[in-house]
This record gives sequence, C-alpha cells and structure tokens, in this order.
Amino acid sequence: MKPARLLSCLGAPRRRAFLKTSALASAAASLGEFAWPAQGTPAVEGGMPEDVPPAPSWIDRPMRWAQLTLVEDDPAKFDMALWLDYFRRTHADAVCLSAGGCVAYYPTEVPFHHRSAWLGDRDLLGELIAGCRQLGMVVIARTDPHATYDDAQAAHPDWIAVGADGQPRRHWASPEMWVTCGLGPYNFEFMTEVKREIMSRYRVDGIFVNRWEGSGTCYCRHCETGFRAATGRALPRTTSPEDPAYHDHLRWRQARLFALWHRWDEAARKINPDSCVIPNTGGGALSRLDMKRVGELSAMLVADRQARHGLMAPWAIGMNAKEYRAAAGRKPVAGLFSVGVEEAYRWKDSVQSADEIRLWVADLVANGMRPWYSKFAGVLHDPRWLQPVEELYGWCHGAERYLRNEQPLARVGLVYSQQTAQSYGPERTRDRVEDPALGWYQALVEARVPFEMVHDRLMDAGRLAPLKTLVLPNIAALSDAQCAQLGDFVRRGGGLVATYETSLFDESGGARGDFGLKELFGVSFVRRLDGPVRNAYLRLEHETARGHPLLAGLEDAPRIIHGVWQLEVRPTVPFPKPPVTLIPSYPDLPMEKVYVRQPRTDVPQVLLHEVGAGRVAYFPWDVDRTFWEVLSVDHFKLMRNAVAWATNEDPPVTVTGPGVLDVTVWRQKGSMTVHLVNLTNPMMMKGPVRELLPVGEQRVRLRLPEGAQARGVRLLVAGAVPPVRQSAGWLELVVPTVRAHEVVAVDL
Ligand SMILES: [Zn+2]
Repeated sequence: MKPARLLSCLGAPRRRAFLKTSALASAAASLGEFAWPAQGTPAVEGGMPEDVPPAPSWIDRPMRWAQLTLVEDDPAKFDMALWLDYFRRTHADAVCLSAGGCVAYYPTEVPFHHRSAWLGDRDLLGELIAGCRQLGMVVIARTDPHATYDDAQAAHPDWIAVGADGQPRRHWASPEMWVTCGLGPYNFEFMTEVKREIMSRYRVDGIFVNRWEGSGTCYCRHCETGFRAATGRALPRTTSPEDPAYHDHLRWRQARLFALWHRWDEAARKINPDSCVIPNTGGGALSRLDMKRVGELSAMLVADRQARHGLMAPWAIGMNAKEYRAAAGRKPVAGLFSVGVEEAYRWKDSVQSADEIRLWVADLVANGMRPWYSKFAGVLHDPRWLQPVEELYGWCHGAERYLRNEQPLARVGLVYSQQTAQSYGPERTRDRVEDPALGWYQALVEARVPFEMVHDRLMDAGRLAPLKTLVLPNIAALSDAQCAQLGDFVRRGGGLVATYETSLFDESGGARGDFGLKELFGVSFVRRLDGPVRNAYLRLEHETARGHPLLAGLEDAPRIIHGVWQLEVRPTVPFPKPPVTLIPSYPDLPMEKVYVRQPRTDVPQVLLHEVGAGRVAYFPWDVDRTFWEVLSVDHFKLMRNAVAWATNEDPPVTVTGPGVLDVTVWRQKGSMTVHLVNLTNPMMMKGPVRELLPVGEQRVRLRLPEGAQARGVRLLVAGAVPPVRQSAGWLELVVPTVRAHEVVAVDL
C-alpha cells in the first residue's frame, strides 16, 4: 500500500519524431558494432532475428541458483569449504561466481584489469570453479564493468563516463574509482578482452554481466559523436517527452546496448560454443530496453528484484516473473533474491527476517521463476539466512518435478507497454503507467484470479490464444496494428477491460483525437475533465440494472466514490440501462456547501459493450490508478466484476476462504499445480514480515484438462494427501491452512 501523494498536473503526450531506422543502422555501422537490428526494424517484426544463436545445452537444467559475489578482500579471508558445502546442502545446481571487471579474482593478464589486492598469485576463481564443477553445477562467471581506477583513467581517459557538466565522473560510492562509459570502448573493447580471457581460461558455461548499461546519460566524446552521427543532434539535456533528442537517445542507446550484448555473446561463444552471455537486464513497462527484443535475444533471463523496499507489495517479485515471461515465453527465468535488507541505504551485509525471505521466494516460485540467492561478500557477518534458504531450497529440490512448468493456465492477461511509458516520459510514468498497472495487479491478486502479463508488442493471435480476457491499464500508446490485433481478439470471443486514455495515442505518442479502439469501446473521445477531480461519485443503478454482474457485492451500495482523472466520452452505440452512472463533482468546502448538485445523470461510467462474441468493459476514468492510491474496496469490486463479466466463463480455478492469496495455476508434463501464496500479512502499516500468519481453510475448485483424471493429489508443503471430490472435469478439495505457501499438485 502506498500513502497518498500529491498529483502533479498531467498533460498528454505529444507527437514527436522518432529516430529513423536507416539513420540508426548507419550510425551503428559507422561505429563498427551493429549486428542485431534495432527495435521496430521490419526484419524482426513477427519473428526471430535470424542471427540469434541457439541456447546452450545446459540452459533448462538449473532449477536452483546460487550467487557468491566476492568483495576485494575475500581472497584473504573467506572460507571456501564453507561455501562449497553450502552449495551442496542447498542442492544448488548452478552458480554465479565473481570473476572480473571491476576486480579480477584470478591472475589476469589483460592490461588495466585490476587483480584483487588480496589475491597474490592465487587463482581463487579457478579454485571455486573446480569445486563447483565437482558438485556437478553449471558455472557462470560474473563480471561488473561499471567502475575503474586511476591508472585506467590516466591511460584511457575516454573510457570514463562524463557528466552533463563535461567533467569525468568519480564513482558516487567509492570516490577513488571512476564511473565508466557503458557505450564506448571500455565496454566494447576492454570488457570484451576480459570476457575472452575468462572464457579461454575456464570455459565457463556462461558470463553474467552486472551494471553493464552505463550509469546515466554519458556525455563523453564517443557518446557525443556517435549520437550526433546517428541523429544529427546533440545529446539530450532533458528527460522531457517534448524533447526529440530524449527519444532519439533512448533508441540510440538501446541499439548500442544490443550491439554490445551481441559482441560479448559472440566473443564468448567463439571460445565455448555451448555458452552465452547473460546481461542483467529487463523488467516491465519502465524498462528501458525493449523487452520483446530482450526476450528474443536471451537464452535465459534473470529478474533482479532482490527484495522489497519501502511499501512495495509482496507480490512484486511475482509481477517481475510475469513481465519477463511475457517477453521470454518458456525460456528459463531466474528470480535473483537477496537475503539482506534492500533499501536505498544499501546495507549490503545485512540479513532480513527469515519469514520475509520465505514469502518472497514463495511468490517467486509460485509465479514460475527459479530461485537464485545472492550473497554479497564471502565472509559471513550474519549467518541467520543460511537455515531458511537451505530449507527453501531443500523443498524446491524435493518438489522439482512439480516446479518444471510447461504452461500457465491463466485466462486473463494484464498488458504492459514500454511505448506508453516512453510516450508519457519519465515525469509522468508513475501516475500514468506504473500506478494503473499496480492497481490492476493488486485487484487481480485480491480477486484470486490467476493471470499472466502480456507485452503490448506481442499480441498476435498465437500469443493471445491461451487467454480469454485482456486488461489494459491506461495503455495509451497503441499503433493501428495493435488496435487491430485487439479488435481481432475481441471478435474471436475475447474480453477486454480498458481504462482512461487507452488507445488515445499512436505508438509514438502522437495524439489521435479519438480512441484507436473507439469501435470496441462504443464511444468517442470528447475531452479531459480538469483534474484532479474531487468529491465525485458513481451512482449504482439497482432500479434499472438489478442483479447486474458488475454490481455483485455492491447490492447494498446506492453510490460509491469516483476516480480522480476523468474523460468525457460520447457513446456511438446505445448503452441501455447502464449499471453505473455519473454523479458529478460538487464542492467539498465549506461544509455547508457540500450538497449534491446533480444527484442523477444518465452518463455511463463503465461502458459495457458486446462486440461479436466478445465483451468490452471500458472505464473512461482512472479506476486502477485511484484504486492503487486509495485501495477502496468498492473500486476493487467494480474491477473484479468487470473482469468476470468480460471473461464470461468459469475460471480455471477458484479458491474460497479468508485472506489475501496470490493464486497461480500451471500445467507440467504429467501434472498440474495450484499455488497459494499467503500474502495476508502487512505488519500493521508497512511491508516487511516479522511473522507469517497462517490463514484458515481454503476451498479449491480446479478444472482438469479435457478428458483427464486426477490420479493422485498432494499438498506439497504440508506433505499431506487431502480428500478430494472429482466430477464432470472438476476437482474439489480443502486446503486446511496456508502459512507462506501451499501447492496443490495433481498427477494426471
Ligand atoms: Zn560515453
């Protein structure tokens, strides 16, 4: 939950020029580093770029990852036997080990590659790799290129990042170091040499790259000249979406990074063809690298959402899993979690509560990721995390065959849109992009609806086939082609739930003047109401729409609160007997003046429109954003009911009982699973969990695959065999309690 915030005055995105693909390609070529085509290049639309190499043979094997991030004095201090023993006890089948970049943990011969001052002549990396290989682990080498030293700066001043003030940048946390340029020769040349050396010496299974994207906009001469050659512009000085240089820079930077990834990957595979480079990258709508491309190019992905901070919801790690899966499909995604307190003050040697770790990992696993623990420093300053992680990994090991998911069975998809985030620009993404999505995420979790996330550039019929309903949380920027895909989806019988400015802009943020989805919505855009709107309400029309599914659970409510940002729209089709209508805003002070001026209008505020076999529910206001801010249960019910009405079928699983549960449902090769993660917890007002509070009895009703019989049912956490009832393709059972996590596993 989040505290109320003041809303900034929000405007609409404006059209501006995007970088021309041809200019981008020629610029990249002129830098000698371009191989993979840029975002939006026709060559990659609708298919894989042809030069994506095959995934290494080991890629799907690891289910439990360990990461040991060494600090520079570890070679003198840490106990290697302890770590190898812990890897064994946790049944970790893959490991990521610090190798080089900022500090080398082996006797490197690459000039300016700084050996640990505590290394001596020792080959610590080699010793660790040998130990891990004896355990049969997949071994990945970790590199971090984001900082370097005075000797490198003196010999190669152009390796160093330059700030907007024209000055080379000292490192913000280690001021004796320099921040490196992510897009110039430091990464393209020096770090490629480092990777070649590591791969030649150790033939590791892959190389993981941390903090490789540069640290903010760099104004060095390579960036300045490269960007000018590509775009004819100077580097941007603002992050305003009105500034064409800002958008050009997003595209140019992205092309450079994809080229860099390709160069590193190619260099590694030249030495060990059964390897790959795994950049630490990706995320959701706010991610700055195109997730569609990231999904195409990667052999596996690592979601680096280490723990909660501030008021982050406990399902945030599951959201990451869904965002990555939307882009990567069935490629493995590891969920990198930290055992420490993850706040801005970076207590990297801390250990947080065991129950907080348990809940985070439960939601990660329930959402299809493979756990990857990360420990910073080889010396154990606080051992309290060892036991809970060992228990979690032991359970994951025992349950492995039920965690090798083939397919999520969710029928609802929540769309995210990087192009919408870029169209609004960084100042407005929180209110316009992030909060609406978080509102829907919370509502769907509360409603116990299993759902997936969907990347807006991956909405072809094949990708959408498993889904019945799509939810569009203010997905403002959509191309004509994307609108057409959504229209086809609905006409095939799909449901659509959309809010606020969805489809009012094209893919570049250009205003359309009307909704791209106006035929689906059945309305045209008229205007934005001045906002934030205060003290407006929704009238629930029980007299004319009694029993309407949109009003379920609200039968006793004559009216409920409205949202904050509203559009005026004009129906283009009849909306007879609308269940929810507008009570316009009226003064909220002085108290004597707080009386309703217009108690009744006939203006529908949730537009329910049947299109062919499909159903569309459009909210011309920010129900999702307001829900995330206010968490009104009435808004929750409207959102839940709109999704149920649009979906218009029995859900694949229903779970009835007290509490807040994240429910996911999966198919494996010979089984299916329902995960119940008990999120019923915030310790009065903030997130971090001190104690897991078990919830009582949950009644589970699960649809079995067509023609399948359940041969056996087990509760994988309780280790119990529950009584079940099976009839007409449905399985019913009771889960007596859930502490952090329970899994109903059904052998088919
Ligand atoms: Zn630079």
